[in-house]
Amino acid sequence: MNSKVMIITGGGRGIGAATALKAAARGYAVCVNYLKDAAAAQAIVGQIHAAGGTAIAVGADVSDEDEVVRLFRSVDEQLGTVSALVNNVGVLENKMRIVEMDMARLNRIFSSNITSQFLCAREAVRRMSRNNGGVGGAIVNVSSAASRLGAAGEYVDYAASKGAIDTFTTGLSLEVASEGIRVNCVRPGFIYTDIHASGGEPGRVDRLRSLIPMQRGGQADEVAYAILWLLSDEASYVTGSFLDIAGGR
Ligand code: NAP
Repeated sequence: MNSKVMIITGGGRGIGAATALKAAARGYAVCVNYLKDAAAAQAIVGQIHAAGGTAIAVGADVSDEDEVVRLFRSVDEQLGTVSALVNNVGVLENKMRIVEMDMARLNRIFSSNITSQFLCAREAVRRMSRNNGGVGGAIVNVSSAASRLGAAGEYVDYAASKGAIDTFTTGLSLEVASEGIRVNCVRPGFIYTDIHASGGEPGRVDRLRSLIPMQRGGQADEVAYAILWLLSDEASYVTGSFLDIAGGR
């Protein structure tokens, strides 16, 4: 069993997929979690295997407690004890003002974006904590520049869910700092992935890039590099920190 075992929630596409490929190249055994798109997750696993790495794909809805428990047990059995968690899953829905948002939408956003990160962190801490006989580890939570900007008129629910992740990062990092676990956060800006199509505007990054000081959108790889640095031993004294990967915005 490899001592470097990473779970990436939502690792089949976008930022999670970029992180999975780079993590495997750096010697991690990688669990690529996904929700529905098994083909995309299997394609990432196939690329890792072709390059000589170790990876598995596990379908599990990380907003569901039983599924999260099953996900982590699968990794225990197939790869070994998790040493790195990337809490990457996040969803957004069609743009609307808060006056139009119904309870079902709010529950979907908050359970996918907030509860999922709590559940996965809980399972990771149970395994990593020196208080439980673990050897420590590192967690990166994926938030968003939206937590600072608010997404007024578009996705205030999404932005607020990411605000919760910022606070969660601060609190959890303090709670487990003496147990050998570092907890940090990345806040991407406008990155070219499929998430914008799920918000109803596939061309969103190009429409808004003139508002970004660097005058361009970001690539998933540029976020992945930051995630991997925060998880690495090079960041051994970094916890409770936030890296804004947003071209200066
Ligand atoms: P994406 O391309 O839309 O990919 C989302 C991934 O999450 C997919 O692999 C999807 O699985 C998975 N997923 C969604 N709900 C899930 C659930 N309940 N359980 C398990 N997996 C689930 O997204 P992305 O743009 O890479 O975003 C990744 C993270 O970055 C999110 O937290 C997002 O909020 C954050 N972020 C993105 C941007 C940006 O501009 N792209 C900016 C700021 C922050 P399937 O493939 O099976 O559907």
